[in-house]
Amino acid sequence: MDILWSPWRYDYIKSGDQPQEQKDSSGCVFCDILKNSASDEEKFILHRAEFNFVILNIYPYISGHLMIVPFKHLADLDFADKNTTDEMMDLAKSCQTILRKAYNPNGFNLGMNLGRAAGAGVAEHFHMHILPRWIGDANFMTAICETRTIPEDLKTTYARLKDRF
Ligand SMILES: [Zn+2]
Repeated sequence: MDILWSPWRYDYIKSGDQPQEQKDSSGCVFCDILKNSASDEEKFILHRAEFNFVILNIYPYISGHLMIVPFKHLADLDFADKNTTDEMMDLAKSCQTILRKAYNPNGFNLGMNLGRAAGAGVAEHFHMHILPRWIGDANFMTAICETRTIPEDLKTTYARLKDRF
């Protein structure tokens, strides 16, 4: 068996993505979206709550792929205050109800990728994904390996969901 514990590598790994309470938000996709003067419809923002907003994933794994994103630029869940994470979970429940009514799925994926090593596309600004699933659709691993089932364009998805929030 290989020896997996190698402390010299830990130093190397440690120098990579570090959780930080307030990294520079310049170049952050979500912060740029919020600063952009385009309308919420053009930016595919479905809903603005007090601490978080709900937005369509513009590179969806599947139709109805939503993201719940804090307004505050924070890399990690455990740096967020309780108001933000409580509201995030309430929004996840609302999203589930709304997606169920709009798409009648058989199930949902709900989750977060925290850090690049965990597969986060936007590692510097944490966010929660929620997406509807159907029996027989591409499985999630296939989906993240770029085989995507998207029978509906984003504007159609937006129009279908917007008024339900
Ligand atoms: Zn940000």
